[in-house]
Amino acid sequence: MKPWPMPHNRPPQARTTGVEKRNAYVFVEQSDRGVAMREHAVVIAGGGPAGMMLAAELALARVDVAVVERRPDHVLVGSRAGGFHSRTIEVLDQRGVAGRFLAEGKVAQAAVFGTTVLDMSDFPTRHPYSLGIWQNQIERIMAAWIGELPVRILYRSEVTGFAQDDTGVDVRLADGGQLRARYLVGCDGGRSMIRKAAGIDFPGWDPTRSNLIAEVELTEESPPGIRRDAIGVHGLHRMEDGRTVRVIVTEQRLGPSSEPSLSDLSEALVAVYGTDFGAHSPTWISRFTDMTRQAAAYRQGRVLLAGDAAHVHYPAGGQGLSLGVQDGVNLGWKLAQVVKEISPESLLDTYHSERHPVAARALQHTMAQTALQRGDERTQALVQVVSELSMMDEPRKRLAGTVSGLDIHYDLGDGHPLLGRRMPDLDIETADRSLRVFELLHDARPLLLNFGDSGSLDITPWNDRVQLVDASYAGVWELPVLGAVSAPRAVLVRPDGYVAWVGDGADLGLGDALTHWFGPGVGSVG
Ligand SMILES: Cc1cc2nc3c(=O)[nH]c(=O)nc-3n(C[C@H](O)[C@H](O)[C@H](O)COP(=O)(O)OP(=O)(O)OC[C@H]3O[C@@H](n4cnc5c(N)ncnc54)[C@H](O)[C@@H]3O)c2cc1C
Repeated sequence: MKPWPMPHNRPPQARTTGVEKRNAYVFVEQSDRGVAMREHAVVIAGGGPAGMMLAAELALARVDVAVVERRPDHVLVGSRAGGFHSRTIEVLDQRGVAGRFLAEGKVAQAAVFGTTVLDMSDFPTRHPYSLGIWQNQIERIMAAWIGELPVRILYRSEVTGFAQDDTGVDVRLADGGQLRARYLVGCDGGRSMIRKAAGIDFPGWDPTRSNLIAEVELTEESPPGIRRDAIGVHGLHRMEDGRTVRVIVTEQRLGPSSEPSLSDLSEALVAVYGTDFGAHSPTWISRFTDMTRQAAAYRQGRVLLAGDAAHVHYPAGGQGLSLGVQDGVNLGWKLAQVVKEISPESLLDTYHSERHPVAARALQHTMAQTALQRGDERTQALVQVVSELSMMDEPRKRLAGTVSGLDIHYDLGDGHPLLGRRMPDLDIETADRSLRVFELLHDARPLLLNFGDSGSLDITPWNDRVQLVDASYAGVWELPVLGAVSAPRAVLVRPDGYVAWVGDGADLGLGDALTHWFGPGVGSVG
C-alpha cells in the first residue's frame, strides 16, 4: 500500500486552492483575514485518552490526522481515572506499547462489581489483572507515543463549530482559524460541543447524586480507607508525594453544574466526617455525578463521536477510559479505509452497531453498581446477596468478563465462537520464528493466520493490505468466560484484534469476508 504523504514530509504551500486532495496535508487557502485553513484527512476534537488513541490508530494506518486540544499541553491537572482493565492492556499490547504503561502502574485484581473484587487471575490472557495508573500518567505516556507518530497536535486550540457538506467538514477554531477535514471526530468529553452541534440526542438518566473529587493538603490527620454511609462512598488517600491528599466525598445534596470551590469541599467533608481536616491549597477540585447518558447515534454524516462524548456514566467500576480507548481502536482502521477509499462509507456504520451495545452494557452495569453503593440497611442486604452470588464461579466470570472488556462479542453473525471475539495472543510458530500473535498486529494491519497446510489459502487480490501468515499452534484455544473452543484452521483478524472470519479447512466465505471488511481485492469487479 502506498504510504500517504505525512505532515512533516511536505512543506506547507501557501495559496494552494480548493481541489480535493485525497492524501494531502496542504495549506488550502489564505482567508480574507489572513488565517490559514489547513486540510487534513481527519480532524479530532479533543486530545484526551479517546482522541489520542484514535489519532495513533489513524497515524499507524498512514492517514493524515490532526488533533485539536484546548489545553496548553498534554498535562492533565488532577489525577482523575485510576487505571484500566485487561482488554485495554491487551489493545495497547497489540500495538506494542503496553509495557510503557505496565512499567509505571501497579497490576492488581481490581475488577470490581458493587463491593466485590472479581478475581480474574484464572482468565486465559497474558494480562489477567487490571492496571492501577493515574490518568495524568496515562495521558503523558500516550502523548509521548503519539509524539513518535505523524500526528499533528494543535494545543491551546478549541473547536467552536463546524459545517459539513458532501465532501468534508469545515472546522471552526476559537482563534478564528479554520481546518478542513474529510471527517471530524468529537473526542471532546462528556459535554461534547461536537455532539451538541451535530444535533445528536443524548438520552439517558439525569444525575441523582454528586461527588466532589479533589487534591488538597490537610492540616489534620485523616482516617485511612473508604467510608460508606446512607449518602454514598467517601475516602481520603495520601498520594505518593506524601503531602497531597486525594479526596472523594459524596455530597449531601446533588450539587450544581458549576465549578465547585474549596468551601463546597469543606462543607461536604464536615457533613460526613465532622471536620474538613483543615483542607487547603487545592490543586484540583472537580465534581462528577451519576448522570448516565449515551449518544443515540455515533455518527452523523461526516461527524463521529468517541469516548465520553458518546457515553457518560458514574465512574463505579472504572470503565470510562477503557471504553473510549477501545472506541478509538474500533473506529481508527475503519475510518482509515474509508478515507483512503478502500472501503465504502457504510463500513463506518459498523462502528455504531458494534460499539453502542458495548457502552450500553457498561452503562447498565454502572447504574447497578451505583444502586449498590447506597448505605441504607435494605440496600446493604442486597449488597450482601449480590456479593455472595458474584463470588460463585459462573457469575464471577461473567461479571469480570464485562468489567475487563474481555467478553466483548461483536455480532458478526452465527458461526465459530471466535467470530466477533478478541483474537487470543497465542504463542505461535511460523516457518522462520516463534512469536506472539499480537506482534503481528503492531502495525494495525489485517491478518490472516493459516493453521492449515502451508500455502492452502490464496489471497493474492488483498496482498497489498492483508498479511497472510502460515503458522502452527499446538495449545488449547481458550476464551475468557466461554472456556475451551475448537481449534480453527484459519482466522481472519481485523486490525482491532477481533476475529472477522473463521476457517474450517476450506476458504468458504473468505473472499466475502475480505471484501466486506477490507474492500474489494485488486482486480475484483465492483
Ligand atoms: C473520579 C473519576 C474516576 C475515574 N476512574 C476511572 C477509572 O478508574 N478507569 C476508567 O476507565 N475511567 C475512569 N474514569 C473516567 C475517565 O476519566 C473518562 O472516561 C475519560 O477521561 C474519557 O476520555 P475521553 O478522551 O473520552 O474524554 P476526556 O478525558 O474528557 O478528554 C476530552 C478532551 O477534549 C478536550 N476538549 C473538550 N472540548 C474541546 C473543544 N471544543 N476543542 C478542543 N478540545 C476540547 C478537553 O480539554 C480534553 O482534553 C473516571 C472519571 C472520574 C471523574
